[in-house]
Amino acid sequence: MNKIPFITKEKAQEIAEMYPTPFYLYDEKGIRENARAVKEAFAWNPGFKEYFAVKATPNPYLIQILREYDCGCDCSSMTELMLSKAVGVKGEDIMFSSNDTPAQEYAYAAKIGAIINLDDITHIEFVENILGKLPETISCRYNPGGIFKMSNGIMDNPGDAKYGFTTEQMFEGYRILKEKGVENFGIHAFLASNTVSNEYYPVLAKELFELAVKLEKETGAHIKFINLSGGVGIPYTPDQEPNDIRAIGEGVRKVYEEVLVRAGMGDVAIYTEMGRFMMGPYGQLVTKAIHEKHTYKEYIGVDACAVNLMRPAMYGAYHHITVLGKENAPCDHKYDVTGSLCENNDKFAIDRMLPQIEKGDYLVIHDTGAHGHAMGYNYNGKLRSAELLLKEDGSVRMIRRAEMPKDYFATLDCFEVYDKLAF
Ligand SMILES: *Cc1c(COP(=O)(O)O)cnc(C)c1O
Repeated sequence: MNKIPFITKEKAQEIAEMYPTPFYLYDEKGIRENARAVKEAFAWNPGFKEYFAVKATPNPYLIQILREYDCGCDCSSMTELMLSKAVGVKGEDIMFSSNDTPAQEYAYAAKIGAIINLDDITHIEFVENILGKLPETISCRYNPGGIFKMSNGIMDNPGDAKYGFTTEQMFEGYRILKEKGVENFGIHAFLASNTVSNEYYPVLAKELFELAVKLEKETGAHIKFINLSGGVGIPYTPDQEPNDIRAIGEGVRKVYEEVLVRAGMGDVAIYTEMGRFMMGPYGQLVTKAIHEKHTYKEYIGVDACAVNLMRPAMYGAYHHITVLGKENAPCDHKYDVTGSLCENNDKFAIDRMLPQIEKGDYLVIHDTGAHGHAMGYNYNGKLRSAELLLKEDGSVRMIRRAEMPKDYFATLDCFEVYDKLAF
């Protein structure tokens, strides 16, 4: 798929006068079109809801846009719950899919009426002790173990993952929960990450639907929803084909009819918890080339670094790069594009063929709308960038300011030395 920057060089210059680079830019039009397509793809299921995985892009302005397409929030921590509540997301529109969960986070999730998705069978007692009584509706995260395969060979390794109940624990857990008075049940599973295949959700759904039929039959538990969670991927490299959400929705509908409807369970709601698919392609990190270095390799130093986007350093992830104003120039120079951290893995690209880059050029790093800014940190005393929203009318709105030194020092404000530092 051709990777197109949201802005031209001239527009980048104009924005940078107001908001210095580096900055994240989100494309409102793209977010809206995609959210609408997701909603339409699953419209056949009356209870359908996408719970946006807040950890991917925890920005209230972006979550508010998704709210217009009936999205809820999937949270994994206290602050994500607080953020969702502050945006006005209420009760069962919040899914709490956490693991290794601290007691106070369960207590808060229950207080605001979120649906609790348990990661382990021991959490039944843990939650009961915290709350006194279990909630009416509860979900359990399933991990079938082994290896997850699809026909095109893409797979993941659930047997190695820390998450979820084993198959036996699902049956035992449901029996215990039912005895303790739980009325409505959910099944959740996340078995493969960033799948660029229309097959993932349908294959996963079939496995979960078959489990649901057995669980309902053997334990008598009423299954209210099945949560397919995240894992629907995006094409980071230009040669990959994007997922077709309509085909994915149709694929899930087909197995829903084959398995659930046939078993008389045609009232089960389908939930999703997509993060990457909802935001990934609609965010770009804009950074400026500030140095060129010619040693044993050719380096371009930019003003963003791994604290602004950790994925290349952490996973060796590919993110496509466009040099603004040189979109059609030949890619005849081989560069390492680096940030300024004292870490040799602080590279946005290694041996990447790009047009000749001059100091002052703007580089767009694509597909950074999910798990991008959110994974930011402060190593080397570096500060996180601003987030900007490119609106449909072409105007730009700041939706998170850049960090300032005072933010970095804020957690020292109870120490004497803080007063002596002049900000
Ligand atoms: C991270 C996560 C998601 C979102 O995953 P994506 O790959 O971004 O869609 C959803 N649910 C849970 C429980 C997660 O941990």
